[in-house]
Amino acid sequence: MGLSGFGIGSRSDRGVAQGSFFCFSSDPDTLVWLRDPSGVFSTRSAYQLVRPTRACSWAFSFFWQSSIPRKLSFFMWRLVNGQLPMDDVLKKFQIHGPSKCHCCVLAQLETMEHVFSTGQLATETWAFFEYSLGLSASAATVRSRCVTWWLFPVKGKALRWLMRTLPILILWFLWRARNISRFEGRKIAGSQVRALIIHEMRMLIRGHFSSIMVPCQWEDLLEALAVVRRALTATAVRWAFPPTGCFKLNTDSCATGRGSGGGGVIRDSCGRLIVAFADSFGCVDSLQAEARALLLGLQLGRQVGVSRLIVESDCLVLINCVRREWGVPAGIRPIVRAIRLGVPSSHQFCHCYREGNTVADSLAAYGAMSGTRVVFTKGSQLPTRTKGLLALDL
Ligand SMILES: [Zn+2]
Repeated sequence: MGLSGFGIGSRSDRGVAQGSFFCFSSDPDTLVWLRDPSGVFSTRSAYQLVRPTRACSWAFSFFWQSSIPRKLSFFMWRLVNGQLPMDDVLKKFQIHGPSKCHCCVLAQLETMEHVFSTGQLATETWAFFEYSLGLSASAATVRSRCVTWWLFPVKGKALRWLMRTLPILILWFLWRARNISRFEGRKIAGSQVRALIIHEMRMLIRGHFSSIMVPCQWEDLLEALAVVRRALTATAVRWAFPPTGCFKLNTDSCATGRGSGGGGVIRDSCGRLIVAFADSFGCVDSLQAEARALLLGLQLGRQVGVSRLIVESDCLVLINCVRREWGVPAGIRPIVRAIRLGVPSSHQFCHCYREGNTVADSLAAYGAMSGTRVVFTKGSQLPTRTKGLLALDL
């Protein structure tokens, strides 16, 4: 594939040089991989570039899941595509022989549906687990049984995971019982198949939910899974006053049908307005708008002579890029470079939740609607909505 996916770092700079972000830097020129937002080459993005794509299958997503062994995923793929070497499948390849199932007292023809859904062993096994979960599946085919399980409503993430995984385990151990009977001449009883399924399920639960004590009995196991709930904690989020002698800059962006806008506000340790701004950036993506709003806020801060500044944005990507914790996406490299340039060490860059960033958010919306840059130095000049939000922060 050569360098077809790469652009030269200075190429993106050239595009932005028409704006106000171009600045010389001591950073060396680098190759930019345009197929990844970070600009860094990865085999993952290269694979996405060359692989053929098509719509994802809803049913396939249930067995191509990372929490089950890969051999089970491949087994399920072969099963639903009719690729397991059962007697009825071999017939399609002109291999005819005596066909006799292993699972019934009165043996019948071995077909996929018989071994996995309608045979004696299959019926008993499905019925045991369906009864324990209160599910009544009168389904006759493997596919409809699986769909009934996957659509059955249960509460709690652990039980939901169980409903996705258990049908796969049932089918896998029915297949193993068939193979042991066919190739080793040993008959596996229904109780043994159930015990193997429960044992394997306990192993998977141990790996997937490390916090759960895994009981041995099936009924106890279901009870243990039923009480697993997502832990919810409530945290009050609001704008916080900066320490005495410090100032705080909040910035945000907003995207509307008319384009993107940005806004920001600098307040002192008593929450008093120092300066606020709103601007329209035209057709740029949200990350670029966030970065441009932050740069504009810093430039205004320098103009009004603010020294110790705490900079807050609800864009985690931008904050971590400025703090050099994450790689900078190619689209905002020139802006981030301009942000970093000349920033005193006394400045801090912090991420905040959007609930604590409402004043900047309202200014960004105003900027997107107004279509021009507006700077406010008095609270009375602010838009009505921003005035109210500013008062609520105090
Ligand atoms: Zn049978």
